[in-house]
Amino acid sequence: MNRFSYVQAASVDEAVAALAADAAAKVVAGGTNLIDLMKYNVERPTRLVDITRIPGLDQIEETEGGGLRVGALVPNTAVAYDRLVEERYPLLSSAILAGATPQLRNAASTGGNLNQRTRCYYFYDPQTACNKREPGTGCPAIAGVNRIHAILGQSEQCIATHPSDMAVALAALEAVVHVAGPSGARRIPLADYHRLPGNRPEIDTTLARDEIVTSVELPAAAQEFRANYTYLKLRDRLSYAFALVSVAAGLTIESGSIRKARIALGGVAHKPWRRPDAEDLLVGKPASNETFARAANLLLEGARGYEHNAFKVDLARKATIRALGQAAAATPQSQVDKRIR
Ligand code: SF4
Repeated sequence: MNRFSYVQAASVDEAVAALAADAAAKVVAGGTNLIDLMKYNVERPTRLVDITRIPGLDQIEETEGGGLRVGALVPNTAVAYDRLVEERYPLLSSAILAGATPQLRNAASTGGNLNQRTRCYYFYDPQTACNKREPGTGCPAIAGVNRIHAILGQSEQCIATHPSDMAVALAALEAVVHVAGPSGARRIPLADYHRLPGNRPEIDTTLARDEIVTSVELPAAAQEFRANYTYLKLRDRLSYAFALVSVAAGLTIESGSIRKARIALGGVAHKPWRRPDAEDLLVGKPASNETFARAANLLLEGARGYEHNAFKVDLARKATIRALGQAAAATPQSQVDKRIR
């Protein structure tokens, strides 16, 4: 591990100023990903800016518009078991409980969950090339071991996936990320927060280097999915594993017809994967497997697998159909009894 200085920010402004003063500074909160990456010598910050003492970022509050604002420092466990989140946004609770372990969820923060980095094996091994870790060195995953890698939105530079479960639910709920930087505060729709790798795979998000996440807003409109939703996660073992494929689905159904649909896939791309045209295709249609299959085909349009992950294309299609069926029947995937019904 390299040497670094440590500063405890007392306010958002102090944190932003500390980041602006050092191009190699990094924010730390729960530290569940960053500290691992520092031990592996993957992340080498010269300064850690600890934001855990900043007041006001550890609250879940109702917004004037009828939604909820989740502070960036609220631990994942506290979000998942918050009474209002459970009542109004059970999809989010379910997705968080599908991820990691209780110990990690207790320590991991909301902002940190969004900013965690890929679990690509090559990214974690400084002895190998990796365009995300060392731009311009290559992507050994393309011709190497790529079971957990992307099938959608990838580039010739990088085929990594984003590992968060929480972010997949937030994408389906159309959450908004609030951030603060030297020029003040701004809002970033969750759909625009994570980016595709393109020819800059070292950049995961649209958050500027000297900005911090302050909160995540859950819109009032997304409460309409509290009856018909699911978070279906498929993985190599049933706990403490990242998704091979996951599906966050929310529907509103009136007289047997779908009035509104939101679907986001995890484990398949560098960001939670949505296709609004696949969601629109469901509107006005009966909640049937035939309809769901047409939406799944559109959602997976252009999917491309590699030697070890080609199976994910069909898996994602079938998982989407199953998840929409679970949502339509109001029988969401249990995160305790993990049998898929
Ligand atoms: Fe690096 Fe991305 Fe290739 Fe993995 S997939 S080795 S993170 S460039």
